[in-house]
Amino acid sequence: MQLTFLGAAQTVTGSKYLLEHKNKKILVDCGLFQGHKELRQRNWEKFFIDPSEIDAIILTHAHIDHSGYIPLLVKNGFRGKIFCSAATFDLCKILLTDSGFLQEEDARRANRYKYSKHDPALPLYNEAEAEESLKFFQPLAFNQKHDFDETFYFTLSPSGHILGSAFVSIFFDKKSIIFSGDLGRKNDLIMKPPTQLQQADYLLIESTYGDRLHEKTDPTQVLKEIINKTAARGGTIVIPAFAVGRAQNILFQLYLLKQQNALPNIPIFLDSPMAIDASEILRKYSGEHKLGKDLCDKVCKIARYTRSTEESKSLNETKMPMIIISASGMAEGGRVLHHLKNYISDHKNTILFTGFQAGGTRGDKIIRGEKEIKIHGNIYEVNAEIVNLTGSSAHADYEEILDWLSNFKTAPKKTFIPHGSPEAAASLQEKIVKKFGWNAVVPEYLQAEKL
Ligand SMILES: [Zn+2]
Repeated sequence: MQLTFLGAAQTVTGSKYLLEHKNKKILVDCGLFQGHKELRQRNWEKFFIDPSEIDAIILTHAHIDHSGYIPLLVKNGFRGKIFCSAATFDLCKILLTDSGFLQEEDARRANRYKYSKHDPALPLYNEAEAEESLKFFQPLAFNQKHDFDETFYFTLSPSGHILGSAFVSIFFDKKSIIFSGDLGRKNDLIMKPPTQLQQADYLLIESTYGDRLHEKTDPTQVLKEIINKTAARGGTIVIPAFAVGRAQNILFQLYLLKQQNALPNIPIFLDSPMAIDASEILRKYSGEHKLGKDLCDKVCKIARYTRSTEESKSLNETKMPMIIISASGMAEGGRVLHHLKNYISDHKNTILFTGFQAGGTRGDKIIRGEKEIKIHGNIYEVNAEIVNLTGSSAHADYEEILDWLSNFKTAPKKTFIPHGSPEAAASLQEKIVKKFGWNAVVPEYLQAEKL
C-alpha cells in the first residue's frame, strides 16, 4: 500500500489522501483548498494522477474542504464510486451544488467589476457540473464492511464532528489504516461523542486545534452576554456560520437561551438557504444525534427563514436590532458578505465568528484585528465589535484529541498528523510523543509513504 498526501498537509484545507494498493487507486476525501492564494492556486493545477484512473473516493464528511474538489475530478474524467454515509450524501447534495453556484457567482461578479487578474474569470466548476457529480455517490450504513476484495475493505464509524461525519477504517493484507477526518468532541451539544476506536497499524489524526484549548467558559453564556450587550446599544449581531453544523449548533444555543428567557426580544433570522436545508436534514437523521425529532422541530422554529434573495436584502433595510445567522462561516462567500458590508463599519454592531478561521480567509483577517476589509472589490472599515466564540467549535482541542487517542490499546506503527497549521501539527506531534511515546510524524504536501 502506498499513501500520498495530496492535501491538508501542514494546512487545514484541501484534504485528499491517495491510497494505491493491488492496482486500485482510492482517494480518501476530496476537498478544496481554501484561504491563502498559494493554496487556492493548487485547486487549478493539473491533478496528481489522471482522475479516470481513480477507482473510488471515500468521504469522511461533507464539508467543502473535504468534498468540494469532487465536481472538478468528475469534470476531468473520474468515473468511480463515491462512498460516504447517507447523511453525508444528503449534505453533499446541497453543499456541492452551492459551491458550484458560488463559484459561478464569483466569476460573474469578478468579470462585471473587473477585479480579477484573469480575463475572463472562470469558475473551477459550475452548478450543473456539481449536480452531475452527485450521480457517482453511493451512500453506506455505518459500521458495515464494504469490500474492494476479500482482504481489502473498509468501514465507516461516527466521528461526532457534524451530521454524517465518519472515521474511515481501511483494512488491507491484515493491516489497517484509520483516517480521523475531523474529530468531534465528547460533549457536543448536538452530536453524539466520537466512536472510541482501539486499534490501527497506521493512523491519521487531524490537528486543527493541536496547539490550542477551547475556552472552558460555557459558550452559551458567552453568547447570551454578547447578544444582550449588543442589543442594549441598539446593534445587530451578525453570525457568520458554516451552514452545516455550526448554524444548527447556534440555533440550538439560542433555543436554550430563549427557554431561560435570557434573550432580548429581537428577531432571529437564518439567512442561508443551505443552512435551512441542512436543518431539515438534521431532522431527517434524528437517530444520529442527541436532539430527536421534536426538539429539532422546536429548535428550527425559533428563527425566521429567509430563502429568497429579496427577503435577504430586506434584512439590510431594517434599522432594528436583530440576530442574523448566515453563511459562509469564514466569510469567504455567500450572503454573509452582504451583511458584513452593511454592519461591519458601525460600532453598535457585533460580528460573531463561531468556528475555525483558516489562515488567509476574510474571517481570519477580521479576527486578527485588521481595520479594513475588502469585499467584492470595495474597502470597508472594521468598527463593529469582533468576537470569536471558539468554545462551541466542532473540532476537538488538543486535550480532547489526546483523550480520544488514549482509547487505543496498542501504539499504531506510525501516526500521521495532517489537517493543521505547521505550528498546530508540530505541537500535537510533540504532545503525542510525550504522552504515548508513539512514532508520530507531520507529513508534507505530496509526501508518499509505503505502508
Ligand atoms: Zn469539517
